[in-house]
Amino acid sequence: MSYLYNYKLTTNAEFLRVDLLDEIRQFSGKFSDIDIEVCLTYDENMHTDVTVGDILSHYTAALPDGDEIEIKRQVKRFVKHSLYMTLSEISGIKLPWGSLTGIRPTKLAYAYIAKGGQVDNVSGYMQSTFAVSSHRANLLQRIIKAQRSALSQMPDSAVNLYVHIPFCDGRCNYCSFPSVDISKKGSNDLLSRYVDALISEIAEMKKFIAVRNESIFSVYVGGGTPSVLGENDLERLLNAIAADNCEFTFEAGRADSFSCEKTAILKAGGVTRICVNPQTLNDDTLARIGRRHTASDFYKAYFTAKEAGFDINTDIIAGLEGETPSDFAHTADSIAELQPENVTVHTLSRKRASLLADTELSCPDIERMMDYAFMRFSDYEPYYLYRQKNMVGNLENVGFCKKGKECVNNITVMEEMVPVYACGAGSISKRVGKCISRFASPKDVGLYIDELKERTDKKLMFLSGERVE
Ligand code: SF4
Repeated sequence: MSYLYNYKLTTNAEFLRVDLLDEIRQFSGKFSDIDIEVCLTYDENMHTDVTVGDILSHYTAALPDGDEIEIKRQVKRFVKHSLYMTLSEISGIKLPWGSLTGIRPTKLAYAYIAKGGQVDNVSGYMQSTFAVSSHRANLLQRIIKAQRSALSQMPDSAVNLYVHIPFCDGRCNYCSFPSVDISKKGSNDLLSRYVDALISEIAEMKKFIAVRNESIFSVYVGGGTPSVLGENDLERLLNAIAADNCEFTFEAGRADSFSCEKTAILKAGGVTRICVNPQTLNDDTLARIGRRHTASDFYKAYFTAKEAGFDINTDIIAGLEGETPSDFAHTADSIAELQPENVTVHTLSRKRASLLADTELSCPDIERMMDYAFMRFSDYEPYYLYRQKNMVGNLENVGFCKKGKECVNNITVMEEMVPVYACGAGSISKRVGKCISRFASPKDVGLYIDELKERTDKKLMFLSGERVE
């Protein structure tokens, strides 16, 4: 039994307890002081009896087929869906993503297509199988089409090269990424030593890629705030990456860390796309969330990058503490006027390692804000989508782009379609395929530098498909 959030869950499907609790939690406190029982039985079909208080509902589905993993997956979906339908009916609440609690609804759409489903039927499938709303299900279908078209020329030998710069100037309150605050004493020296280590790891990684005849499909330098690098370190880093003929994205996430000189270095270093992220264009909110820049810094950085001819990604967040729908509309309107190539609209989520970890986030207007974003960016193509745990309103993050301007890194990383060869402290390399496996580098920058050789060898073994202890 679980006594969480004042309800009691009893089930004979213990292996699904965590999933069932996730489902109940989606109704944010609606079911308190109540007994919920979920009973799963089998005969020639599978059945669930869901009791909430004194209301009993019964559901039946055909027995699943496939291998053990697939059977377990289908049973889980059926039981979660049964519980969702009951809770939805009793509460009168229909959630935008129905019974889905996972973070990547697109994966379910791809699995459906892999089993012979038609792309044009994705929306219907999501609505009938998971009770997803027609708006979200249609959105998903559109996104799958956009992704397939954007990746139609992707070679089988594609890999993504990721380079991580875990340094920032200050700390934003919603952020959970571990990063070194460069405003602290001694951190500039650490930054230069870090770049030395990173350059030698990149050199090993590039040799490895060349020997295996793989092609770098996209490069992404992320963080942290990569644009905090000084000009000399920046140039050294880009020379080490030396990527050409591929999408090359560089995060200049914080507008105050960007300059004309750095823009010229990025241009000469092969960067094609720059992320300049305001998150909000309201100065009061920027100060409140700990971003040490203003809206006017953002505009300056944006136009500097634009004039240099880069494609631009911008991120904004709906549901930031203290923001009203009109604050959010101001940000969305201002970004829509600029017409960057890519806009990603996030809904705020509470992350365990962030300064907001213990804050109960709520934003009653979050759906209105996201609806406004869909309307404001209706001349863009939605092309990637993901969800996170503890998102305000259980909504989603959506990437929109101008026609033909999809950031392929965003798609392939989000959908886990391409291996990620990641360099740097706290970076995570990934092998993809039937199973996804990961290799993490130490988050601690000092440890990363000290153990570089040994850890790089292990990482390359992992990427070759060997088992690494
Ligand atoms: S949001 Fe970006 S700039 Fe802010 S602390 Fe996190 S990584 Fe650094």
